[in-house]
Amino acid sequence: MAWDFETDPEVQRELDWVEEFVRDEVEPVDQVIEHAWNTRDPRRNALIKPLQERVRERELWACHLGPELGGKGYGQLRLALLNEKLGRTHSGPVVFGCQAPDSGNAEILAHYGSDFQKKTYLEPLIEGDIVSSFSMTEPHGGSDPTGFRTTAVLDGDSWVINGEKWFSSHALFAEFLIVMAVTEPDAAPHERMSMFVVPADAPGVERVRDVSVWGHEEPVGTHQYLRYTDVRVPAENLLGRRGEGFAVAQTRLGGGRIHHAMRTVGLVQRAFELMKRRAVSRTTKGARLADKQLVQEMIADSWIQIEQFRLLVLRTAWKIDKHDDYRAVRADIAAVKAAMPKVLLDVSSRAIQIHGSLGISKELPFGKWVMESFHMGLADGATEVHKTNLAKALVRSTTPDDGLFPPYIGPELTREALGRYSELLAEADEVDPGGAA
Ligand SMILES: Cc1cc2nc3c(=O)[nH]c(=O)nc-3n(C[C@H](O)[C@H](O)[C@H](O)COP(=O)(O)OP(=O)(O)OC[C@H]3O[C@@H](n4cnc5c(N)ncnc54)[C@H](O)[C@@H]3O)c2cc1C
Repeated sequence: MAWDFETDPEVQRELDWVEEFVRDEVEPVDQVIEHAWNTRDPRRNALIKPLQERVRERELWACHLGPELGGKGYGQLRLALLNEKLGRTHSGPVVFGCQAPDSGNAEILAHYGSDFQKKTYLEPLIEGDIVSSFSMTEPHGGSDPTGFRTTAVLDGDSWVINGEKWFSSHALFAEFLIVMAVTEPDAAPHERMSMFVVPADAPGVERVRDVSVWGHEEPVGTHQYLRYTDVRVPAENLLGRRGEGFAVAQTRLGGGRIHHAMRTVGLVQRAFELMKRRAVSRTTKGARLADKQLVQEMIADSWIQIEQFRLLVLRTAWKIDKHDDYRAVRADIAAVKAAMPKVLLDVSSRAIQIHGSLGISKELPFGKWVMESFHMGLADGATEVHKTNLAKALVRSTTPDDGLFPPYIGPELTREALGRYSELLAEADEVDPGGAA
């Protein structure tokens, strides 16, 4: 029977190396660089590139990619175990070549890109020499992509793109953007959009605002509000077929969501680790915080939430491997995505509380992680949307009951059981008519 919670010793050895490397080499880098995705920052390159080299030497670079693209073709379960080690840091995913949104964009280019696009964008992206942006959300609505207004019109050999996109993360640093636009306005809502690769320096791509967010202390906001005005790209920059934009988006979003969740496991584990350290180090009224029952409750609740979430993430990853298809595991991924912000919010908030004034100060990262939980509840789709999708999937195969009362009420179940066992009961009553009394 295959039902196991243990990691192969060989994989565990690798994970131990990653854990040590991330703690000793990557965490300090987070303290001094502005943004790990900014491949144009010499300070970032001086510190990150040597670490990326060590990861390559260890053959752990871009493990999410198949061997044909230079990766190790790790399944999602193994990636989950790796990502949880990286998630405790900002730079970890970049150091290991598996950061969002580039990992998902690479999957799209690998699936749908032309030879030219693979050479020009995919190869340097995989090498970590450039980064990219996914430009889908619009200012007038993110949760309902069927309402997107950006258009792409074929004009001779070129597509001409017009519209506005909002929260195109890392567009500031990106060499190219993957843009969703309406190409078939008269088609059914989910067949109206197509996906394009657009060079970030194409004429007509305008940065309207560099939007910054609470929780990210960056000198320039990295969630760009972009305007596309008569942006011309060659016809071959269409990714997939016309009207297939949603299907192309799913190529990246399924993986993207579960990978965020894997990294979040690592982040909450870090918050928990620090919470415990403080609880056993700080004393008040002659006892450690860890000896106070209300603090014990915070520690216990955090561990329970983390372990529940981690197991859900791991099982979902295992299911993706089993089915080899994100779509078959959509409901599980929605559950993971919906659970993620709450675990991070709750554990980070308790970590603040246990650290007192120090916890709320900017000398510790918990406030940033509390805000990060709101990022998690929006990026790649709002929690409410995932919950409603999950609920819809869960009730889909449940058949409705007829009648005023459901057939599973006690009196009905008793009536059925009495009918089923009537003969046996009658025989028993003949043997000893008063036995039941
Ligand atoms: C940190 C971060 C990074 C991001 N990066 C990118 C990126 O790189 N590229 C990109 O294209 N987008 C990106 N986004 C945008 C993200 O995809 C959107 O924020 C998300 O899809 C929600 O869209 P919205 O912000 O327009 O909210 P809205 O659609 O306006 O929704 C607002 C709120 O309404 C409620 N709501 C909406 N729909 C429903 C519903 N069906 N049922 C119940 N309640 C509902 C929810 O509470 C929701 O939070 C990013 C967002 C964040 C926070």
